[in-house]
Amino acid sequence: MNRRNKGWRIASGWVLAMVLTWCTALTATGQSATDGQITATDGHVVVAYVTSWTQTLPDPNVMTHINYAFGHVNDSFDGVRIDNAERLRRVVRLKKQHSSLKVMLSIGGWGSGRFSEMAADEARRKAFAQDCRRVVDDFGLDGIDIDWEYPTQSSAGISSSPNDTRNFTLLMRDLREALGDERLLTCATVASGAYIDFPACIDYLDWVNVMAYDMAGAPKHHSALYPSDISGWMTTSGAVAAHLKAGVPPEKLVMGMPLYGRGLLGYCAEPDTLRGVTERWHAQSMVPYLTNDEGTLVMGFENTRSLAIKCQYILDHRLRGGMYWEYGDEHQKALRDVVASILLQGEAAPYPADYAGGRKRFRALFIYDPYAETAHVEFDRQALHFFHKLSYGEGFTYDTRTECPASLDTLRQYDVVVMLNTLPSGAEARRAFEDYMKQGGGWIGFHGSGYNDKHTRWPWLNEFLGCGMFLCNNWPPQPALVEVDKTSHPVTRTLPAQFIVPASEFYQFSPSPRANADVEVLLSISPKMYPFGIKDIVSYGDFPIVWTNRKYRMVYLNMGHGDEEFTDATQNLLFTNVFRWVALEGKER
Ligand code: ZN
Repeated sequence: MNRRNKGWRIASGWVLAMVLTWCTALTATGQSATDGQITATDGHVVVAYVTSWTQTLPDPNVMTHINYAFGHVNDSFDGVRIDNAERLRRVVRLKKQHSSLKVMLSIGGWGSGRFSEMAADEARRKAFAQDCRRVVDDFGLDGIDIDWEYPTQSSAGISSSPNDTRNFTLLMRDLREALGDERLLTCATVASGAYIDFPACIDYLDWVNVMAYDMAGAPKHHSALYPSDISGWMTTSGAVAAHLKAGVPPEKLVMGMPLYGRGLLGYCAEPDTLRGVTERWHAQSMVPYLTNDEGTLVMGFENTRSLAIKCQYILDHRLRGGMYWEYGDEHQKALRDVVASILLQGEAAPYPADYAGGRKRFRALFIYDPYAETAHVEFDRQALHFFHKLSYGEGFTYDTRTECPASLDTLRQYDVVVMLNTLPSGAEARRAFEDYMKQGGGWIGFHGSGYNDKHTRWPWLNEFLGCGMFLCNNWPPQPALVEVDKTSHPVTRTLPAQFIVPASEFYQFSPSPRANADVEVLLSISPKMYPFGIKDIVSYGDFPIVWTNRKYRMVYLNMGHGDEEFTDATQNLLFTNVFRWVALEGKER
């Protein structure tokens, strides 16, 4: 496969194993996926590469297909040579106990050549295809996987020709003819989707394994899901998009995932190496990584959490399934199990279900505007940190965006959408959000997400918030004595009847939400605060700051200005209560 350095992996395998074990232990301990035989839900495949040079016999419960790595084009360009054929036979014997398991021979890999010469010559190509058929029959295989890395490219030190792309198509045609419709034919492709004419050859293929890893080296992550400052030239989501664009239909697209880390640590196999590193999670790229004291990425890796998110991505995009390089040993068990449990058993991602006592997981999207005023951006940054940490214990998916999605389908993937000082501004995003809320979506809005004046021009927002326009505010930000309006509500019942909240800017609206029969006011600024403010003074008026409009699954909180909002345990409890209620209990109304 792409840029695999066998020497590096073996020499430093224990370091890597340590890193993976250590990191996965931090997030989740992985669920057992070995209760009986797995039947693929919705036909998802899990393709595991099993190498000729490892010893472990794979657990057939955690995948649907094994790609045995590798076979090669033989020296006379007309047949197949197999590495460690005896191990291949042992792997195939797993099918005896597990009848649904499919085993394929993967031919090629990084640095494996002679494809170009073989495919260019019709007689050699047809002989090679016939020999593939012989190998399939001799070994009792289910098909062939071609890992030509890459047609028209000599970067792996193999021969190439400008005609490789066309000849690759002919090779697929001849392999399909030789294998017949009963056997499987797949290929592995570079993340960008280049070098292959998919429209010409896709009909011959059962699916395409996209090698969405090794896409960068430290200080970049080699397999980031989404682009960010730590992603390389290509990301996993970008690789999927590139293949779809190149003509691979989603039902023939199998998304590759690495079960290994890649970075500087791999080269210095000293136990001390790990002492100076910090594990981090990248909220944009959705992957874990290790940094040195300077904060530079030294190792990009996967844990159960990132793999669960990638598997959810596969489900969300209705892809055929997932592939991983490589099966590994007992150190990768939690990683393999998380893939199997989501793609094969149809379970919600189990991370970190162990903490959450098996309670149903939910998905939360946090939207913030990085270009808002400084005091709002500062709150948003702290809020992301606060809710991200909460995700460890609450067992939910934590996603972030810097813009409100303009698609109802995107919003509907989430049980709760949290808007931190931002609101949908474009017509499309507003319509998507309205539809999402009308269809039972969940919303939590902080501070600026409820700011509404004559420039907002969104009548539905008043209907949704259950109040009139912004009227006035205190300035500068100040702490405030607040009073609980409804002590029996799940959001407020664990709070004191009165308490002081950290410094903030509070908006008063007119008419007050309390005037709306659908609104339940949960918390208000105490009238004892009047006159409230120094530069901008609020002297009177009903001043609700946390409420819900019962027509929707929502809570608006007025807090959200400045860098002190998360300094108070009582207010933090309020935030947690709101989040929990909207995401979980609020759904059952
Ligand atoms: Zn503000």
